[in-house]
Amino acid sequence: MSIKLPIDIRAIKGFLASSEGAALHHLAAEASALGACLEVGSYCGKSTIYIASACKLVDGIVFAVDHHRGSEEHQPGEEYHDPELFDEHARLMDSFRTFRRNIRTAQLEDWVVPLVASSAIAARHWNTPLGLVFIDGGHSLEAAMTDYRCWARHIVPGGYLAIHDIFPDPADGGQAPYDIYKLALASGQFELVEMVDTLGILRRIC
Ligand code: SAH
Ligand code: MG
Repeated sequence: MSIKLPIDIRAIKGFLASSEGAALHHLAAEASALGACLEVGSYCGKSTIYIASACKLVDGIVFAVDHHRGSEEHQPGEEYHDPELFDEHARLMDSFRTFRRNIRTAQLEDWVVPLVASSAIAARHWNTPLGLVFIDGGHSLEAAMTDYRCWARHIVPGGYLAIHDIFPDPADGGQAPYDIYKLALASGQFELVEMVDTLGILRRIC
């Protein structure tokens, strides 16, 4: 099924294949009947736009959690550093301005709640049932484990946990997302729905 996006998604900086984005879009449309959507790791809003454009169709909402200071690989001197996203005054990464501009240009502001905070801080008083959690934040084992522990427990039965950057072969990429994916399956609380490229989609069964 093809999807209609409010913006030329190729113009948005980010790290998501169009197949993965389309899968997230369909998941968000379905999951919104069960609860709110939440993503960890928005960057410039590519995944947010795929999710929020589905929320717009079904009167849902997506909470977009990101401290906007970049992951390890976005820092100066690292492989995915983008000087255009560097705040010279603060001497820190800042993707929030670009994120905000992109969400506004896509006319999706009414379906996105940006939470400019680290995942653990945003989760501290969280008490809202979630239909979809999309984890695409930091890739250290500690960051990925924190994201899983903080957010998976808020997913309602029947709701979805989607994890990006699943690489079963260590030669293809870091193992932390795959580790939490395996942890979720081993917990007995989630079953595999499908893999779309590197996006692992799980459903909460109990
Ligand atoms: N989903 C995005 C890509 C996310 S890149 C897309 O579709 O293009 C990863 C993002 O996770 C970065 O913007 C980084 O700032 C954020 N991040 C990393 N660790 C985080 C943490 N502990 N809490 C919140 N955000 C985090
Ligand atoms: Mg990713």
